[in-house]
Amino acid sequence: MTRRTGFEGTLLSPAARRIMGTILLVLAAGLLVGASAIALRAHSGEVAELGPTAALFVTTGKIFGLLAGTLVFLQFALSAKLKTLDRVFGLHRLLFAHRFLGISAAVCASLHPLFVFAPKAREIGALRFAILPELMGAALLIALWIAVCTGLWREFLHLRYQVWYRFHRLGMFSAVVLVTLHVLNVTDDIAGGWPLHALVAAFGLYAALFVWAKGIKPRLLRRRMYAVTKVTPAGKDTYAVELSPKGDGIFSYVPGQFAFLTFHSEALPLERHPWTISSTPTRPESLIFTIKCSGDFTDSIGKLKPGDTAVVDGPYGLFSYAAHVRDPKGELVMVAGGVGVTPMLSMLRYMADRGEMRKVTLVWSNKTEADILCREELEAIEAKLPNLAIHHVLTRQKDFQGPTGRLDRTMLKELLSGCSRTSAVFVCGPPPMMDAVWKALKGIGFRGRRIHTERFSI
Ligand SMILES: Cc1cc2nc3c(=O)[nH]c(=O)nc-3n(C[C@H](O)[C@H](O)[C@H](O)COP(=O)(O)OP(=O)(O)OC[C@H]3O[C@@H](n4cnc5c(N)ncnc54)[C@H](O)[C@@H]3O)c2cc1C
Repeated sequence: MTRRTGFEGTLLSPAARRIMGTILLVLAAGLLVGASAIALRAHSGEVAELGPTAALFVTTGKIFGLLAGTLVFLQFALSAKLKTLDRVFGLHRLLFAHRFLGISAAVCASLHPLFVFAPKAREIGALRFAILPELMGAALLIALWIAVCTGLWREFLHLRYQVWYRFHRLGMFSAVVLVTLHVLNVTDDIAGGWPLHALVAAFGLYAALFVWAKGIKPRLLRRRMYAVTKVTPAGKDTYAVELSPKGDGIFSYVPGQFAFLTFHSEALPLERHPWTISSTPTRPESLIFTIKCSGDFTDSIGKLKPGDTAVVDGPYGLFSYAAHVRDPKGELVMVAGGVGVTPMLSMLRYMADRGEMRKVTLVWSNKTEADILCREELEAIEAKLPNLAIHHVLTRQKDFQGPTGRLDRTMLKELLSGCSRTSAVFVCGPPPMMDAVWKALKGIGFRGRRIHTERFSI
């Protein structure tokens, strides 16, 4: 068995992430300012013929429109799961930005016609009001709000993830086409010079990114298929699915990262789902995913058979002490809820193989003892790592010898009394638990910047 000694993967150091992140944010801000400048540049032309108040309204409206259009173009770069951006920001942050900027685009797009039409814009000769560009603008506005509302309230609207995802992708692609047609037809501002070149470049970049993400990358991934080698129960309603590469070895990853899997099996539909890699990079023969039956798809995960195949797209994410703690003695605190322990499992397996001596405290909340996964293995790891302490907390088993109840401030204060408040903290579990734990940890003195969270939803 191979034992690697260094951190695997192509992680950037925290300093490199900060520098690259700043550069990328400045570039994005530059794009938005540059786009807005198109409206100011046109001020000397058609808009200058209006009175000053009307000109101000129209210019402001155009700025909102240009901002909305630029944000629509940027959206795909944020959601296309680009590894380079993932390494700098992490996929969860990118998807948070995607949601926030999606709402901003819809708000800007709504303000755009309000301002442009406010000064009775119908009398402004230079703005050509052919009905088609107007309709395209209106369709775009509706598409953006549908994308925003269904994205924010998908679960409330009972939309199946796969169905929603397909419509969302199609909707956003249509939005980019509509933006381009709308701006080219509704105003002369982008009819020539650098604004036209910028629009053509943006559309070209978008098309290239689309072809890469939806055409080339899936083909490349299919060339590096994995075979299911073992499917074993790992606890109540949970399976450990082991995959081995069919060709070259597995990709480099750090413990705690996740991947998107698409199984090719008679037992399961062809869907792409994210799961944490719960194995450790110190054992590079295979990848293990510990999967809980929690819905339509995962309920059949136990029916996978050795010989089924899978496409694995990964690794992604920065939820790993390897990404945040450079000091080999740096202390760690981990708080997990239920199957949210999988990233911790990977990190602990890694530390056990490397014989790490750093102090680690894991607080793990489950409903009952029967829900505790891989208990024997974790006990063996605890015995191997003298500075590891595992505290089980149960929420629905009154006769448990240890602590019972929800993880709140009082319980965490007691369980983490011996831990340094400067420790790096990793929290993963159901969203309400994570929010409560985050507040409790802050309340008992842990530093917000050192608390890292992983949500099992994207
Ligand atoms: C970064 C990350 C790591 C994860 N790691 C693990 C893990 O180690 N073990 C584990 O058991 N679970 C993990 N999950 C959760 C797992 O992805 C979902 O439980 C699974 O996709 C649910 O699928 P379902 O169709 O059976 O359930 P459903 O009931 O249909 O879906 C439940 C919820 O899961 C999410 N979901 C469903 N399908 C997808 C999809 N195709 N892509 C993205 N999200 C989807 C949606 O938020 C949905 O509302 C992880 C999730 C994320 C985001």
